[in-house]
Amino acid sequence: MLRDAQKNGYAVPAFNVENLEMAQGVIAAAADAGSPVILQTTSPTVAYASASLFVGLVEALAREVDIPVCLHLDHATDPQLLRDAIGAGYPSVMMDASRKSFEENLALTREAVQYAAARDVPVEAELGSVGGKEDDVEGASDYTDPQRAREFVRDTGLFSLAVAIGTAHGVYKQTPRLDLERLSAIRAQVEAPLVLHGASGLEDQQVRQCVQKGICKVNFATELRAAYTAAVRKVLAEHPEAIDPKLYGREARLAVECLARHKMDVCGSVQRA
Ligand SMILES: [Zn+2]
Repeated sequence: MLRDAQKNGYAVPAFNVENLEMAQGVIAAAADAGSPVILQTTSPTVAYASASLFVGLVEALAREVDIPVCLHLDHATDPQLLRDAIGAGYPSVMMDASRKSFEENLALTREAVQYAAARDVPVEAELGSVGGKEDDVEGASDYTDPQRAREFVRDTGLFSLAVAIGTAHGVYKQTPRLDLERLSAIRAQVEAPLVLHGASGLEDQQVRQCVQKGICKVNFATELRAAYTAAVRKVLAEHPEAIDPKLYGREARLAVECLARHKMDVCGSVQRA
């Protein structure tokens, strides 16, 4: 999926999902848009339900539609969790040792790549550090160095690289300034597909610029959670007597679908399935 995106100048949108309704909303949007799509879960989300539950859920939903659907493990900081997820059937994973030293990051990523490659699973890894807070990922930003990125990709054998160019996880207080020159410089050094984290809260135009400059997977998490929760809150405020989870589940699912559908336009992934 990412190679096709890279070749044709668009990005595959990757949405963090937490439950049935979020997964349904994302898949419905992708089917409507004719877009390839990635559903992903963080480690705390996997802990909240289970890896095999998400594998089963996404497999069942993917069978109902005629578009490429992939499930991805987002930000595994623990190699054991990564191995467990692969064992449960995750076809794509991220090893995130970006908060460790360059050498430790390289060693942990290389180990993960070796383990995953033997099972035909591609690994995303991160160099530099996307700051902010999302679940158990938290810390300051540290921009990706283009030369080191080249070394890192070569020596780890990773499939895709998450870059730090000024985005952050979680909620922005103001629209961030992105270092697009750095992105171009990384792109010039690295052939691997590049991934943008922390895209929630960027202006659409900023995401489009990143895609033009070589990003081929864009992660959306915070905005989706916010849309889902706002919809639940609205229904419960309007119907304080409600007891049927389907009543607010349906509205929340629709809110996720609308947002995901828009992000597909922004990523340029519509009709690429
Ligand atoms: Zn991330």
